[in-house]
Amino acid sequence: MAHTPTWFEAGYRHIWLPYTQMQTVAAPLAVVGASGSKLKLADGRTLVDGIASWWTMCHGYQHPHIVAAIQRQAGSLSHVMFAGLAHEPAYRLAERLCAFTRCGMERVFFAESGSVAVEVALKMALQYWRNKGEPKRNKFICFTHGYHGDTVGAMSVSSDSDFKSAYGAITLKNYQLDLPSDEYSFAEFAETVAAIKGQVAGLIMEPLVQAAGGMRFHSADILSEIRRVCRENDILFIADEIATGFGRTGNLLAVHEAAIEPDILCLGKALTGGHMPFAATLARREVFEAFLSDDPDKALMHGPTFMAHPIACAAAHASLDLFESEPRLSQAEALEQKLWDGLKPFTDKVVDVRVKGAIGVLELPEATDLAALRARLVEHGAWLRPFGNVLYLMPPLNISDADLDVLFGAVVKSLA
Ligand code: PMP
Repeated sequence: MAHTPTWFEAGYRHIWLPYTQMQTVAAPLAVVGASGSKLKLADGRTLVDGIASWWTMCHGYQHPHIVAAIQRQAGSLSHVMFAGLAHEPAYRLAERLCAFTRCGMERVFFAESGSVAVEVALKMALQYWRNKGEPKRNKFICFTHGYHGDTVGAMSVSSDSDFKSAYGAITLKNYQLDLPSDEYSFAEFAETVAAIKGQVAGLIMEPLVQAAGGMRFHSADILSEIRRVCRENDILFIADEIATGFGRTGNLLAVHEAAIEPDILCLGKALTGGHMPFAATLARREVFEAFLSDDPDKALMHGPTFMAHPIACAAAHASLDLFESEPRLSQAEALEQKLWDGLKPFTDKVVDVRVKGAIGVLELPEATDLAALRARLVEHGAWLRPFGNVLYLMPPLNISDADLDVLFGAVVKSLA
């Protein structure tokens, strides 16, 4: 019987877990530490984390450069409100992110989670049109299988799914379209968008990879075609790169692969190398300028208590340092081949095998018992969380070959 710490026993009666049917769920594993790609469990076991803590830990856990930056910042200014007061970590980070993201962004609004960064993006787009005297442009185009977070606005632009089925009464109506996939559907898509553009403030999508909606990939051509249609119809293009950003698709940002620039860009997850809760909504100059006025009613009315948290900003700086000083993007690129080599043997055994950058996916038969599969993966030393009918790998970008082999070995043995 595995050792269970006393804090677990006592707290488990009071905790409420995410996305979890608490009556039937298997108890979570107690973690007491982590470093690199590995989690250390209370019972002494070690697991290789193949999904980088919900895709955040791009440099691995406890990266010494990030930990040191957090400790330094905590020693001088751990937090201060962001209205009326300014601090260097946030101001320098805003400047640095605009340059670093290389896609025409000029203003940065900081928040504490991806969902809130999406809410802010939607509010920016809505009010952009209101400020310009077109308040009827108040709906969004979003895509089937898209996912943008769990808050009300974010749910409203996410695809119909289990994530939101209980909350229909408070979600807003938008236009959910299928991603166009070929020339015929490009034309149809362009036609549909042109027909509704008078009601549309913006289009939001996860560029190249729809992550939580099933790890589905689309091409850079499709992405740039959607961007083109938005431009043609004067619709703000919102790139939600909360999952895809920071090397995950092989480029620093997914939009770089299609050589397009969004009007609004959402970042989160790996923004601090996964070490702090943090997110950002970036905007082009034209978007920002629509809010400039003598009229206070035209100001963006959003301001999370912990926005621009100095320790989170320090962690984000340290993470950007690592993208500059370590070969993270070439590691992400190299992972593509390694993931393909490791997953290719399943080609005849599963529904689909696909790899994009540092994301490897096995699509399993519908009837797979996920709870049993998860337990077997843990038995074989891997922390992987298959969902729907998808078993995927999104490890730290700098995972060692030895740790990758543990993941592949666990997948082989668990699916056998
Ligand atoms: N957008 C995308 C593309 C995401 O994958 C997620 C989280 N999985 C979010 C938004 C929401 O981010 P958070 O969980 O930090 O609120």
